[in-house]
Amino acid sequence: MSRGEVATTPQGPGEGGPRGGLKTFRCGDVVPGCDEVFRGTAAAIIALAGVHAARDHGVDPTDPALLDAVRGAMRPA
Ligand SMILES: [Zn+2]
Repeated sequence: MSRGEVATTPQGPGEGGPRGGLKTFRCGDVVPGCDEVFRGTAAAIIALAGVHAARDHGVDPTDPALLDAVRGAMRPA
């Protein structure tokens, strides 16, 4: 038995991160002046930030350009 590094993958394949781990997204990186910060998997951040963006910024959270900006602004947590 090895001390398997792949024994406890929290997400399925295709999650994208080097460790499939958590990321941090600062809304202020996309919307200057916003202090909102999200932390979680990329998929979770997309979902949460989408709700926040639609409600608080009145933008379309399915806008490909916006999603691109959000992904680009994510940092490893
Ligand atoms: Zn915001």
